[in-house]
Amino acid sequence: MAIQPNLVKTIEKLQQQIQGVVLAAGEPAYEDARRAWNVTVDQHPALIVVAHSAADIVQAVRFARAEGLDIAVQGTGHGVVRAADGALLIVTSKMKGLQIDVAAQTAWLEPGLKWGEVLAKAQAVGLAPLLGSSTDVGVVGYTLGGGMGWLARKYGLSADNVVYFELVTADGKLIRVSNTENADLFWALRGGGGAFGIVTGMEIKLFPVTTVYGGNLYYPAEMAKEVITRYREWIKDAPDELTSSFLIANYPDIPQMPDPLRGKSFVQVRGLFSGSVEQGKEMLKFWRDWQAPIIDAWVEMPFAAAATISNDPEDPMPSFSTSAWLRELSDEAIDTIIQYGHSVNGSSPLLIAEVRNAGGAISKVDPHSSAYGNRDAAYILHMLSLAPTPEAHHFLSQYANQFRSAMQPWLTGGVYMNFLEGQESRERVKQGFLPENYKRLTEVKAKYDPDNYFSFGFNIPPAGSI
Ligand SMILES: Cc1cc2nc3c(=O)[nH]c(=O)nc-3n(C[C@H](O)[C@H](O)[C@H](O)COP(=O)(O)OP(=O)(O)OC[C@H]3O[C@@H](n4cnc5c(N)ncnc54)[C@H](O)[C@@H]3O)c2cc1C
Repeated sequence: MAIQPNLVKTIEKLQQQIQGVVLAAGEPAYEDARRAWNVTVDQHPALIVVAHSAADIVQAVRFARAEGLDIAVQGTGHGVVRAADGALLIVTSKMKGLQIDVAAQTAWLEPGLKWGEVLAKAQAVGLAPLLGSSTDVGVVGYTLGGGMGWLARKYGLSADNVVYFELVTADGKLIRVSNTENADLFWALRGGGGAFGIVTGMEIKLFPVTTVYGGNLYYPAEMAKEVITRYREWIKDAPDELTSSFLIANYPDIPQMPDPLRGKSFVQVRGLFSGSVEQGKEMLKFWRDWQAPIIDAWVEMPFAAAATISNDPEDPMPSFSTSAWLRELSDEAIDTIIQYGHSVNGSSPLLIAEVRNAGGAISKVDPHSSAYGNRDAAYILHMLSLAPTPEAHHFLSQYANQFRSAMQPWLTGGVYMNFLEGQESRERVKQGFLPENYKRLTEVKAKYDPDNYFSFGFNIPPAGSI
C-alpha cells in the first residue's frame, strides 16, 4: 500500500527527528524491512521505521498516534502474530546494545539482539542466558511469550528471570517496568506478549553454566513405542538439571539432508543435562545399556553449542508450528502420538512431533506472580512442518486439529503461546493463560493501551471493550 501523498511531508519530518530510517512502500529497503523470518508472512505496513534507539521508538509511536496508525513491532519475524498490514511497523533489528555485568550475573539487552549474540558474549565470561532451542530467535519476543529452553527445568523461563524492562507506552512515554515500578505492567509482560508497548531493552539474569552434556539418541521410528515408554520412565524422577524431549522426526528426502537422516523417520531422545558431565554420562547409561541407538550424539559440549541439539533452521522459511499442553503420557497417548507423528508412506505431513518435558523450576513459580500460564502441565506437544503455500498451511492446520482432537483425553486444554503463530495465536489466546490471569491482562491492557494501538501482539482486548 502506497503512503498517501499528503503524508509525505510528515514522513520527512519524522525522518528528521530520528537516527533510524523511515521507509515507505516503493523504496527497495522497504521490501527488505517488511520481510519476516517466517516467509508465510507477507505484510504490507503503511510505513516502516527501522529504529536505532529508544528515542526513535518514542518518536515513531508519537507519530503513529498523531496519524491514527496502529503500531506493530518486529525483531526477527520468527513469531509474527498478525501481519502489520496498514500499520506503522517498528523494526528493532538494528538495536543491538549488550552489556554484561559479570559480578552481578546480569545482562542489559536491546531488542534487536538474537540469542546467539547474547550467548557468545555471555559464554566468553562463563555465563549463560536462558535461550531456547535456536540462537536465531529474538531475545524480546521469546521472553514476552515465556521462553522455554534447555535450562528451563533448572532455572525457569526467560520471563521468570527478567530484572526490569524499558518500554515505550501507547502515549509515547519511555518508562521503566519492574517489580517496584509499574508492577502491574511487569506482571503482564512476563508471558503476556507484545500487546502492551514496545520494549526498548531489558535486564536479565545470567547463570554460571559452561560445560554441559547433551544431544540426541536416534532410534528407528518403528521402535517409537518402546523408546517413548522408556523415556517416560527415564524422566519420572529425573533431576531438574535435565531438560529433555522425545520427538518423532520425518526427515525429508532432499539433498540438503545429511545421508544417515535423509528420507528416514526416527524417534529421538533429546536433551541437555546441566549438572556434572560424569553424572550426565551416568544418566545416559539407562539408554546405552538398553539398546545401542543408530546414532548416539549425546556428548560433552560447551553451553555455547547448545543450539546444535535441536539444530533448528536459521534461513527464513515457511514455518508451521502449533502446540498443546499434555497432562500425562498414558500408553494410549503414546500410541496416538506415534499414529499422527510417524509418517508411513506419507501418512503424516508433520516433519516433527516433539514432546518437551516441562515442570521443574517452571512449575515452582506461583502461577499468579506473572501472566505466563500453564505452569503445572508436564509436557508440551509441539507440531512442526513447512507450509510453502496457503493450501499446504490449511492442510497442516486441519491435520494438527485432528491430531489434537485424538489427543483430547490427555490435553490440559492449554496452549504455549510461543509455539503458536499467526491467526491461531489470536484465536486461542485465552487457552494460553489461567482465566483469572487473562482477565487481569485485559485490565492491564485497558490501563496502558485503552485504544488498542498495539493490536499486533497476542490478542488481548482492553477490559470493557469486549
Ligand atoms: C526455529 C524456532 C525455534 C524456536 N524455539 C523456541 C524455544 O526453544 N522456546 C520457546 O519458548 N520459543 C521458541 N520459539 C518461539 C519463539 O520464542 C517465538 O516465535 C517468539 O515470538 C519469537 O520472537 P522474535 O522476537 O524472534 O520474533 P518476532 O516475530 O520479531 O516477534 C514476535 C512477537 O513478539 C513481540 N515483540 C517482538 N519484539 C518486541 C518488542 N521490542 N516490544 C514488544 N513486543 C515485541 C511482538 O508481538 C511480535 O509480534 C522458536 C521459534 C522458532 C521459529
